[in-house]
Amino acid sequence: VLKDYIGAGFPKESDLITRVSKINLSVAEGSNGVVVKNLYLSCDPYMRMRMTKTQGSYFESFTPHQPITGLGVARVLDSKNQKFKKGDLVWGMTGWEEYSHITNADGLFKIEHSDVPLSYYTGLLGMPGMTAYSGFYEVCAPKKAEYVYISAASGAVGQLVGQFAKLLGCYVVGSAGSKEKVNLLKNKFGFDEAFNYKEEEDLVAALKRYFPDGIDIYFENVGGKMLDAVLVNMRPHGRVAVCGMISQYNLEKPEGVHNLTSIIAKRLRIQGFLVSEYYHLYPKFLEMVLPYIKEGKINYVEDTAEGLESAPAALIGLFSGRNIGKQVVVVARE
Ligand code: NDP
Repeated sequence: VLKDYIGAGFPKESDLITRVSKINLSVAEGSNGVVVKNLYLSCDPYMRMRMTKTQGSYFESFTPHQPITGLGVARVLDSKNQKFKKGDLVWGMTGWEEYSHITNADGLFKIEHSDVPLSYYTGLLGMPGMTAYSGFYEVCAPKKAEYVYISAASGAVGQLVGQFAKLLGCYVVGSAGSKEKVNLLKNKFGFDEAFNYKEEEDLVAALKRYFPDGIDIYFENVGGKMLDAVLVNMRPHGRVAVCGMISQYNLEKPEGVHNLTSIIAKRLRIQGFLVSEYYHLYPKFLEMVLPYIKEGKINYVEDTAEGLESAPAALIGLFSGRNIGKQVVVVARE
């Protein structure tokens, strides 16, 4: 439960509190919804925006004193929706609670393939996976052997973008905020190179070192100084997929970006995108990615927090880079 709306600044664990209340486990007559038992919850950076009272944002603010909502994997306990029956596994918007009433069940996806870890539907096989897929293939227009750079590269989205780019035969470099994450990028996800951006005094020079001939594709997850440094390192006709800008989400005033004239000189295409516009591609995405998982061609690293009581710290941890891989909260395993 969100205690109250917060303003700028880093969110704190104490901004969220746990509460005990009773819930009826059957769907009310006349409803089109479902009642689910929540299994895995997804911690996602956009949830920070929902903790603030915003107007005109593309994210609806949370309602203080009500259980917050987010993406998760759940089992249907009761259903009045014709798409779902008792026992079905689903992923989609649910509550950060043990059991949830989902009145708008039409937005849920039925899980048809349960021979992979179910928690993957919060990440690799869920929204972050679709973000990586649509951002890379639809927005970046990638070609074999291009030079690809990814920031926040060890996270839920970044680790996949890098592996998609490697599967296409690109040269791939990622940045992340610790030595352990850098090792993961190189040794687990097969990136060609990786570096710890926190150890670099001069990001422009660091990027020049890894991309002496420039960057064709930048998959933007962080914004701010990193974007500025990337712009001057782009190659002519390079593409920037603006997926997220996590370094800006807690600031009162976003940092300025100074190297915008590079956009003209290098004739760059910079495009923001929202995964929500690409869900029609979900079946095609699954068709591509499930065999890769089974053949071991795609690896996925998750960071699991046990129990609902660990959820506030897990969510807040995204903004200090505490998570190593996709941050998941395990509410129940079955
Ligand atoms: P991650 O799993 O990557 O977790 C967030 C990571 O961001 C942290 O672990 C940390 O890693 C890094 N980070 C946090 N603060 C900063 C900072 N100030 N500067 C640089 N890096 C920071 O998250 P996701 O993969 O889920 O999301 C990645 C991005 O994609 C986010 O910006 C998110 O908002 C965006 N997104 C956009 C979507 C869309 O539809 N456009 C959909 C889903 C996600 P490190 O230790 O490396 O610093």
